[in-house]
Amino acid sequence: MGRQPQDRTDRQWALSGTLSSALKIGALVAGIAIALYSSGQDTVRPAIDVAATTLNEEIDLGTMAAEGEEDTPVLNGIDPGEYRLSATGPEPSEVSEAENAQPERLVVQIRRGDTLLDVLLGVGIPRAEAHEAVSAIASVYDPRNLRPGQEITLTLDSLASDTPSLIEANLNASAERDINLSRDSDGRFTALARKKELRRELIRAIGTVNSSLFEAGSAAGVPGAIMVDLIRAFSYDVDFQRDVHPGDSFEIVFERYRDAQGRFAKDGDILFGRLTLAQGGTKRIYRFVHRDGTADFYNENGESVRKALLKTPIDGARLSSRFGMRKHPILGYSAMHKGVDFAAPQGTPVQAAGDGIVEAAGWHGAYGNYVRIRHNSEYSTAYAHLSRIAAAVKPGAHVRQGQVLGYVGSTGRSTGPHLHYEVLRRGTAINPTSVRLPTGRKLDGQELVQFRIAKADIDLTVAAIEPTTRVARNADESAPQAQ
Ligand SMILES: [Zn+2]
Repeated sequence: MGRQPQDRTDRQWALSGTLSSALKIGALVAGIAIALYSSGQDTVRPAIDVAATTLNEEIDLGTMAAEGEEDTPVLNGIDPGEYRLSATGPEPSEVSEAENAQPERLVVQIRRGDTLLDVLLGVGIPRAEAHEAVSAIASVYDPRNLRPGQEITLTLDSLASDTPSLIEANLNASAERDINLSRDSDGRFTALARKKELRRELIRAIGTVNSSLFEAGSAAGVPGAIMVDLIRAFSYDVDFQRDVHPGDSFEIVFERYRDAQGRFAKDGDILFGRLTLAQGGTKRIYRFVHRDGTADFYNENGESVRKALLKTPIDGARLSSRFGMRKHPILGYSAMHKGVDFAAPQGTPVQAAGDGIVEAAGWHGAYGNYVRIRHNSEYSTAYAHLSRIAAAVKPGAHVRQGQVLGYVGSTGRSTGPHLHYEVLRRGTAINPTSVRLPTGRKLDGQELVQFRIAKADIDLTVAAIEPTTRVARNADESAPQAQ
């Protein structure tokens, strides 16, 4: 159902002088709100706030109002007058309600089980109009792809009305694509899928460890998922409970993509990472894309950071050098203690240190819930005091490096939640740091040459980026002062 020509006549009549100037300014404000919205400056605040701010700061109201006297102003190609009227558009006598009749922008977050129709009906849009909008959107986007947490921005003629009419809708379909629903000149809904032009930028962040590397990353504004990737890359080489201490530092360079308006779209890959440990020296990792298109991290000599066994066989993001110190000492290997303990919150995932076959999975006396993995004819690793063993971990099962074997607990003879981890050589627990395991892939020949070029390029790029100690998500967000 489109707008009827009669409405347009009404509009011309309404705008031709019967409305008070208050309503005209109201319409103008509404127009600015829509224009701003379409230029995408702010997606969460209600339109009216944006309009108010803008009137003061950016728009020369005098000029705009003067133009408004003559014709309906067209801002960014949107005619604000277009949307003033609905089938029950304001009568001249309703001028006092002008304030309540301005278009409003509403950001609705999709909840589990919501359909697009539910969302539109939920804000009061009449059923027939909601159906029309959904079918227009369905021509470019399958509404069944909606996921909880996704946001849809609705511009309505008035929230105050019992039956608000939809002016425009914007759906962030994915990091690469958005869907715009608007009305054509006849008032009918049309939907467009727009491929976002994403701009890649590199962010270089540095930070100092206070309690854990993960927290240091959070304090620097580095997204958790990026920090987890960095920690995982270093987990082959670093024991995140014993090797990392307050005062150690890190540096990271990662990709961030923004849309044309500078809004955050998604994070990309880590290009470079550095960890400087008071006890352990400086470790650097470089991302390198192989000829087959796969990518991995290498140290400066072109050696893969991957090793046969993880030095931290537990989610390193959840470990701190101080966690649990008061309750139970964090032990390393000694004559008395034939393993290393990782103190971590109950339920923290425990990972297989390397590929292998499950030798034991079940209750094992003082060890409580216990898993042992055989990696080759020589080496096995064991994991004790688990609160729970993962369902797939049964004797004889193959496991991959990093696969979750179970969860940190305090079963058996244990004073508090921790992982007791052993490396066994021909059945005897040994000091893990003494294990000589073959390292991962080592680049050579043409690939090593390619790596050196890529590394030099990353080094130059990194040096050219001003480091930040506080990553801002939005381009216009000024970096807050250190707290
Ligand atoms: Zn122990």
